[in-house]
Formats: sequence, structure tokens, C-alpha cells
Amino acid sequence: MLSERQAEYMDKIDELRRERRAVILAHNYQRPEIQELADFTGDSLGLAQRATETDAETIVFCGVYFMAETAHILNPEKLVLTPDAQAGCPLADMVTADGLLALKKKHPGVPVVCYVNSSASVKAVSDICCTSSNAVSIVNSLAEDEVIFVPDGNLGRYVAGQTGKKVLSWPGYCPTHRRITSERIREIKKEVPGALFMAHPECDDDVLALADHICSTSGMYKFAQETDAVDLIVGSEVGMLHRLQLDSPQKNFIMPGPDIICPNMKLTTLKKVYLSLLNEETRVVLPEDVRARAENATARMVKVIA
Ligand code: SF4
Repeated sequence: MLSERQAEYMDKIDELRRERRAVILAHNYQRPEIQELADFTGDSLGLAQRATETDAETIVFCGVYFMAETAHILNPEKLVLTPDAQAGCPLADMVTADGLLALKKKHPGVPVVCYVNSSASVKAVSDICCTSSNAVSIVNSLAEDEVIFVPDGNLGRYVAGQTGKKVLSWPGYCPTHRRITSERIREIKKEVPGALFMAHPECDDDVLALADHICSTSGMYKFAQETDAVDLIVGSEVGMLHRLQLDSPQKNFIMPGPDIICPNMKLTTLKKVYLSLLNEETRVVLPEDVRARAENATARMVKVIA
């Protein structure tokens, strides 16, 4: 239920959205009211695709910074705005272009697969991007039997297990998914017999070992609707509950802890979206050479999965 103030912001945003011919995209981890406000919600892949399909003149990206950068990479002619430029991703920050170039030097000829949770400068020195939903297909699409994978070590190891390829994983991790522990999953499974555990591949290995289904955030919505199980443990960020409960109100979704929250994802508020549209801030702009090279890696991913 929206407060009076929130409802006012919704109305003002709607007006500006029409005036500015803007589209509002929101990641699945955003606050419920931001998900309600958005024209489209989704995971990083879904939103990256939406960004290329829209004919809007302005894209307001409610997520974290690398996602808004990705929208700009794919839509250089559009105005891309982020309501809070401080909303970063600690996982993305764990690898730099210089660090990756140093690793590439040690492994000449080995292609770099770059999880979209990375900066544009890292994408610019990578061969191809991937998301959690297509990482296995992307690595399988490469002719080489060895790849460098940045920056998420858990996703890299998961991909190695699924593809049988040698994966040199960067040791990055998501601090939010790291708070999901195998001890807690075991406890819940004991407390709620029959509960199935859906896990995002950013979870640690010992947690993934307990999963009944490993998938991206979009994969979780699908699984929740298709499975006969009533009790489902959500191995991802708490923002997932909003749509899961809307899609499957008869099911019981269990978070494996009170602190599975990405603070960066919660920085975006209705007021910030309003001010962003009103003042056309903060504009996401990259040096053209970086953008163009990052586009190559991103577009190559989109082509593989098309
Ligand atoms: Fe980054 Fe993790 Fe937050 Fe996603 S949940 S934006 S990977 S820190």
C-alpha cells in the first residue's frame, strides 16, 4: 500500500514519463514501489534486451550503475539516466580493467567471458559478456576449452561444472548472496519438510550443493509457477518476493535470513526517480572508444542467445 506522498510521486513521474517520452526499467531487486512504477522489470539480460527494443527517447534505469551503463552501451543515441549514481555493485568493483589485462597477459589466447555485473571498462577488454541465465550457453558457444571468467568466482565454478571446460575464475563474490549459508538452508529444510530451494548461482558452492534448482532471478519466477511444491526457499535478494508473491499468491516463500538485502539496490526511491526525470540527471555517458568496445562484447552475447 502506497503512502500519500508515494502516490503523489507516482503521479508526477507519470506526467514526466509522458512528457519526456521515457521508459522506466527496474531490476527484480528494486523496492516494490519501484517495480510497480516501472514499464518493465526483469533481470540484467531481460532489461538489456528491453533497452535495445524500446523506441523511447529516455531510459531511466532503476538498478545499479553497471546496468545503466549497459543500457547506454547498447543505446548510445538515447539519454540514459540513473536516479542514484552512488548505487554501485561491490561484485562489479572487485575486478578492474588493469587487473584483467594483467591476467590476460599470463594466459595469452584464452578468451575472457565477462559477467554483465562488471564495469564498462572491464567489458571493453573482454571477448564476450554473459548473464547468470546464459553463462553456460555462452561458454559452450566458444571453441576454446579454456576461458577466463570475471568477476564472480561462484558463477565461474558453476559454469566449469556444467560445461566441463577449464574456467580460470576471478575470485569475486556478491556480498549479499554470500550471506545465504548452507547451515540456514539445512535448518529450513528440517523445519519445513518438502520445501524446495531455488538458488542463484552467485551463492557459495556449499549452498549451491543443497539447491533443488539453480537459476537466474527470471528462472525463479518460472520455477515457482511450474513446480507443485508449495514451500519455496528463495536463494536470492529479498526484492524477489514482490513478484513471486504476486505471481503465485498461494505459495509460501521463505527467505533464508533477514539480511539478504542488497543496500545498493535499495538506494533508488520514488523521489529520486522523480528528480532524475525532472532534472535529467544523472546522465550515464562513457568515452566512445570504451563504449564501442564494451558494445562488441555485449552484442556478441545477445547474438549467441538470439
Ligand atoms: Fe551486486 Fe550482489 Fe547487489 Fe547484485 S545483489 S547488485 S551482484 S552486490
